[in-house]
Amino acid sequence: MGDVWAPSKRLTDVAPSGIRVIFDRAAALENAGHRVVHFEIGRPDFDTPRHVKDAAADALAAGHVHYSSNWGIPPLREAIAQKLAHDNAVRYSPDDEVIVTVGANEAVLLAILATIDPGEEVVIPTPTWPHYAECVRLAGGHPVFVPLDPTDGYALRAEAVVAALTPRTRMVVVCSPNNPTGAVVAAEDLTTIAKRLSGTRILLLADDIYESLVYDDVRHTCAASIPDLRDRTLVVGGLAKSWAMDGWRLGWLAGPRELVRWALRVRQYTTVCPPTFLQYGAVAALRGDQEPRLAMRREFGQRRAAALRRLAGQDLLRVTRADGAFYLYARYDPHLPPAQQLALDLLERQHVAVVPGPSFGPGQDHAIRIAYSCSLSDVEEGLTRMLNYLSDLAPASAA
Ligand code: PMP
Repeated sequence: MGDVWAPSKRLTDVAPSGIRVIFDRAAALENAGHRVVHFEIGRPDFDTPRHVKDAAADALAAGHVHYSSNWGIPPLREAIAQKLAHDNAVRYSPDDEVIVTVGANEAVLLAILATIDPGEEVVIPTPTWPHYAECVRLAGGHPVFVPLDPTDGYALRAEAVVAALTPRTRMVVVCSPNNPTGAVVAAEDLTTIAKRLSGTRILLLADDIYESLVYDDVRHTCAASIPDLRDRTLVVGGLAKSWAMDGWRLGWLAGPRELVRWALRVRQYTTVCPPTFLQYGAVAALRGDQEPRLAMRREFGQRRAAALRRLAGQDLLRVTRADGAFYLYARYDPHLPPAQQLALDLLERQHVAVVPGPSFGPGQDHAIRIAYSCSLSDVEEGLTRMLNYLSDLAPASAA
């Protein structure tokens, strides 16, 4: 029967989701009555703001229960285009340059399936959110991983990207603020990348899903707002992280119409449209009171500050500044067990769930991602448990 159950050849290179192992084991421990600190899930622990839920409920009650246009409902496309113009200084037509997607995930998939041919290369700075590479493999393309420097805060430097370009390069991925490092790309690096891409057919995929989660005085720059990049950039965004709407599965893809129309072609034969009445909720999020979003960001900022305070003055877990998103990416002593093992040990013995570095690309064997999207007390408690565990291990490894 083996052949009957064989996956398509396209799928054989696509890796299963690494984070699932931790996730499932954490759930099993919880079912057995243990209190687990969840540093593994990149998901706000807040409820979706009330006025957003009400708008979706009203739309459902009003009978918005049918397919919408493949592009999404017009008022939401308009709200997204206006948000991009206002917050990101880049203009798109709501008629044919913005697609409402089933989460930012779908936006990434549409962008890649619409543009990448078998054999083409996509430059992905690492550590990285794993989906880009797997979507590239689904398209038959080759991810080209570019390691970023931890001593430089994993900053995406133009030189590193430029050095990875070849005649086969079709796309460069920029995720800022970054999952898993929290690093925010500098406008100067985008400008340098723009110069180098000029005259080529290389696209830029700008994943801005964490754009509004930046702390202190840091500012996010949308790659498409760099004048020479606008026409070769596909912008991915969404409501999951900043609006606590991950389960709504709503995001967007925006770009020049010449590219976006191909993404729409994929959409027509896959998801068709996101649930129509939920799209009305998203209009309320983008157009209505922004205070709930800002309050959540303040709360994340406090958790981040608490985590950085707890980790200051020790070097068991070495973290970088992480100006955005809700992650800290920590390196630890390479004499200690590799991250896959350490993550399992931390879970079994300390009931702290983290994601091991290898989920985020090659060469990440002694690093873990800590998501501070849980309560302030869990942040403190989880880090204390981890540091205690590591300090018990450290002398043994040194011996
Ligand atoms: N991009 C990045 C960098 C992410 O971390 C995530 C979610 N983990 C997504 C996209 C997908 O977001 P959504 O839930 O909107 O599909």
